[in-house]
Amino acid sequence: MCIGYKGMKTAYLDELKHPLRIGESEIEDPAGDEIIVRQEVTGVCYRDILTMDGFFPRVRLPIVPGHEIAGEIVKIGPDVSRFKVGERVASLIYIPCGQCEFCRSGRENLCPNKKTFGELLDGSYRKYVKVSEKSVVHVPEGVGNHEAAISACVTGMIYHAIRVEAGIKEGETILLTGSGGGVGMHAIQIAKALGARVIAETSSKWKTDQILAAGADHVVYSGEDFSRKVKELSDGGVDVVLESVGKPTFDSALRSLKTGGRMAVIGNVIPDPVNLPLGLIILKGNRIFGSISSTREDMKKALELSAAGKVKAISNMEIPLDNINSAYEDIRNRRNLGRVMIKLE
Ligand SMILES: [Zn+2]
Ligand SMILES: [Zn+2]
Repeated sequence: MCIGYKGMKTAYLDELKHPLRIGESEIEDPAGDEIIVRQEVTGVCYRDILTMDGFFPRVRLPIVPGHEIAGEIVKIGPDVSRFKVGERVASLIYIPCGQCEFCRSGRENLCPNKKTFGELLDGSYRKYVKVSEKSVVHVPEGVGNHEAAISACVTGMIYHAIRVEAGIKEGETILLTGSGGGVGMHAIQIAKALGARVIAETSSKWKTDQILAAGADHVVYSGEDFSRKVKELSDGGVDVVLESVGKPTFDSALRSLKTGGRMAVIGNVIPDPVNLPLGLIILKGNRIFGSISSTREDMKKALELSAAGKVKAISNMEIPLDNINSAYEDIRNRRNLGRVMIKLE
């Protein structure tokens, strides 16, 4: 029986700093705890572009990029016990080792042995992808393919940063930087679903209406120091900042924190160093911490929010795999609103 994962249209990164090549591939039958999933859509992440640009030196070449994976199970390896053919699953962006201190304590996002899709493992830029029983969770009834595909790298990652790490509580105020992008448009919805008041920063004024429509209470604009405006809107400063841009917004975002406020850093789109005003941080007792990716628990929480209709995938661009290189240019030039998705055939 042909199960369709031979001769697939596939995007490859052959060489750093070169466009992706569209070719063909096949996947071998699953062994051990491996699972083959048939995807309908996958997301395009800024990390995919950074990988192409050479910011992740451990990338194995050639590689199939992409790590935003969800779909229906079509075949399982002999050791898979908790998942069956026909079930819908979503995958972490990596396969954790399952053995280390972090994996054993439910913090597999910190696993030093994790293998990331699109960097060490062939990823999602093709119809079928091979994942592991260790990387997937069930997708609940009523969750769409788009919401499932972004539940690890987008919504689960945001949940991890603002709930698990920053501990945001109902009634608190959060500042989101880069709010019109793939992460930001979903961070607005998650923060609202958790009962927070949302101030959204963007460099793209044309996205204002959509940012408000996604649920933001206020919008502020970068290009200048926006901390004064944020303080006016938040009675002296915000409880939490989700910083997803880096150098262009970091300083104003830090100055937007109230005394005792905390900042989760999740993005570094322009990887230049930032200045840390140590005196200010000490005087205000601010906490700054990195937050990386998501765990399976975070994915389950994010999927629950989608099942409840509170978090929807926002995307103004769904492309065929053939257009992947031009989509990268659109993302670099911030022409996307929300997630760029690839429709897989
Ligand atoms: Zn991603
Ligand atoms: Zn581990």
